[in-house]
Amino acid sequence: MYIKKEIREFIEKMPRETKLSKEWVNFIKQIDKSHNLLIEHGKEEYECTNCGKYSYGKLLNSRNYRYHDICRFCGKKYEIRRSNLKNYFFLYNLAMVDNMNNKLIIRYYEVYRRYNYKIRRFVNSIVEFARYVPEFDVVLLNDRCPRGQNIYHDEKIKKWRVFGGKYYGNNSYKSIYLKDIDEKKKGTSYQYIPLGDVINHLENIKFDSLYRVFRLAKYNSFELLIKAGLYNLALECPERFNENGSFEKRFGVCKHFYKFMQKHDISYNELFVLRLTQKPNIEIIRTLLRISYSNLDDLKKASSYINLVDLEKYSKKQTRLSIQNYLDYIDNLERMGVPLTKKKLLPENFTIAHNESVEKVKIVENELLNQKIIQRYKQLEKNKYKNDKFIIRPAKSLNDMKDEAKQQHNCVYTNYSEKYANGKTDIYFLRKLKKPKESLVTVEVLDGKIRQKYQKRNTATNRNQNSFLKLWEKDILNAA
Ligand SMILES: [Zn+2]
Repeated sequence: MYIKKEIREFIEKMPRETKLSKEWVNFIKQIDKSHNLLIEHGKEEYECTNCGKYSYGKLLNSRNYRYHDICRFCGKKYEIRRSNLKNYFFLYNLAMVDNMNNKLIIRYYEVYRRYNYKIRRFVNSIVEFARYVPEFDVVLLNDRCPRGQNIYHDEKIKKWRVFGGKYYGNNSYKSIYLKDIDEKKKGTSYQYIPLGDVINHLENIKFDSLYRVFRLAKYNSFELLIKAGLYNLALECPERFNENGSFEKRFGVCKHFYKFMQKHDISYNELFVLRLTQKPNIEIIRTLLRISYSNLDDLKKASSYINLVDLEKYSKKQTRLSIQNYLDYIDNLERMGVPLTKKKLLPENFTIAHNESVEKVKIVENELLNQKIIQRYKQLEKNKYKNDKFIIRPAKSLNDMKDEAKQQHNCVYTNYSEKYANGKTDIYFLRKLKKPKESLVTVEVLDGKIRQKYQKRNTATNRNQNSFLKLWEKDILNAA
């Protein structure tokens, strides 16, 4: 793997290992208060591995917890284990921010907290196994974590190297030490970014949050958004707000909405709706997002027909109105050529109006289709042909096709009406001369050739029918 000189040099110069500072050890001690047990020595006698004291009698909450209880002295809730316990441990990762040669680095530690049954206390082994250098966007691993998977506590650090694979070990951590972060970021490229604020803000999303923060911090707008208290925008999509210039140019809304945006720590979707509604009302915005399943394109489209604030108000009086349904309804009105008056746009009962529009549009469209088929019939009428036994003619109308499909049990109506109407293919019906109303063979012709010919239920045609069709194809369709 090729590694840039700059990175190589940095690795060479950075300290291989540092002593755990007193503050750092104290930080871990605080976290470890929750990593303890209650050791049950006999009936109703419990020893707390945290404070070392014994509690006797029924514990405070023994009715509430079956396997956990609260130490009477330190008040912590722990799992109960029998005194013959031999092996037990806790394992978790911690992170700290450090500064090495004016580069910000995240150092990852694993705490292996093992139960020592001889003294009935927990003993920690704390080892550093990875470093992340956001400025280079590289993960470094040492001998304790050679493949980015298992961590070996008894290995010495001989070497740090760049890890190129997909790395899971440090993607999550239990806690990050932030106490001196302002001091640590001095002189680094993250000096002016309020990293502590951001990481605290993300406290509930431990997974991958550091990577995210540093990746996003590369955008100029990140710092600005965080300082403006717009955390959601900063963490969602700072790249969308990189535009320099006025507030309006950057956010697409007037500056007097800023207080509102900050108060609700507005998300990108919410801002998008605010642009459309121009109304700083978070309930309205959230309702609109809900009824559109957060489909911003659909909301934008709807806003070109109707004021979204009116639509939101209207939606409250309707049952199950979604923006998608609403757009279908508008589409139906347009296809029928109905003028979009206020009354049409906001009908008293949306469900009824919507269903009616579906029915009506079907009728209108079928009539259009029918007109086209009638035209096609007129064009193809010249190909009518008969002998003393059979007659063949083009399909005359939509109903004609429906009737053929019904008699023949085939799909000529459902699959071929539109193709036929639009001139993509030609449909003919072959019938007995004496029984012209009774279906016999359905025929498709494409480019002057018979493409399909079937009797009832798609069964093959017989010899007589075939010779008639062959003649017709040759003498009439390709008469030229
Ligand atoms: Zn205790």
